[in-house]
Amino acid sequence: MPRIGIIGGSGVYELLKESIARVITTPYGDVEVFVGWVGDEEVAFIPRHGKKHTIPPFAVNYRGNLYALNLLGVERVIATNAVGSLREDLEPGTLIVPDDFIDMTKGRVYTFYDGKTSLRVRGMEIKGVVHVSMTPSTYCPEIRNALLEAGSKEGLQVKDGGVYVCAEGNRFETPAEIRAYRLMGGDIVGMTGCPEAALARELSICYATLAVVTNYAAGIKGDKKLTHEEVKEIFSSRIKQVKDIILKSIPLLPKERKCPCKDALMGAVATA
Ligand SMILES: [Zn+2]
Repeated sequence: MPRIGIIGGSGVYELLKESIARVITTPYGDVEVFVGWVGDEEVAFIPRHGKKHTIPPFAVNYRGNLYALNLLGVERVIATNAVGSLREDLEPGTLIVPDDFIDMTKGRVYTFYDGKTSLRVRGMEIKGVVHVSMTPSTYCPEIRNALLEAGSKEGLQVKDGGVYVCAEGNRFETPAEIRAYRLMGGDIVGMTGCPEAALARELSICYATLAVVTNYAAGIKGDKKLTHEEVKEIFSSRIKQVKDIILKSIPLLPKERKCPCKDALMGAVATA
């Protein structure tokens, strides 16, 4: 049973050298998961946008992906995201492990616990209303540490911390939106980090992400038109590093979880 899952964002459509495709049936539809090995650790991989980048951010099956990983026994998810920078000092090409997020999406499904669906999480049957906490750590501290340590072992600069703002998309943000996100305390902006991170917490799955800054967000440096081509180009230049850091972070993860994520459902079920 894989205990570790990876959700690859833009540019990361394959990761494991040899893997077997499995179709997992979930209450949210069938999900294709690629299962392989990293050293002696069995790992499950899902390309978030599909193998050929055909799924736009709003249409990603966030619940299906995470529930499929939960059914496989995954306890930790390492994700990647391509992001725009809200700060001049976070240049395109920067690798960053955010430590918090602001969810500005507006048309997604934000919870597994709709009061109707019966779910199986770590051997428990849960149905009803659940309010998980995003404190003390929005992202899993153990995965964040492993990513940062893997980066430094590879001799790569990886920025520790930053606030990820998730925009709805599909269009890129307006300059006024970017000014607002900056005032709110955002450092980077993307379209796929939410509700993924919170849904993982709802299944008491540890979750953290390695983000790649692919461009300055609107109005941060000049008013040049932003193209997806440009985003892809910067991402491709960092893709090997992203894959290396993720793969090298896996053996650095403690075998037993000591982080609070594993207890996310304790005291969170509101239904009487
Ligand atoms: Zn954790």
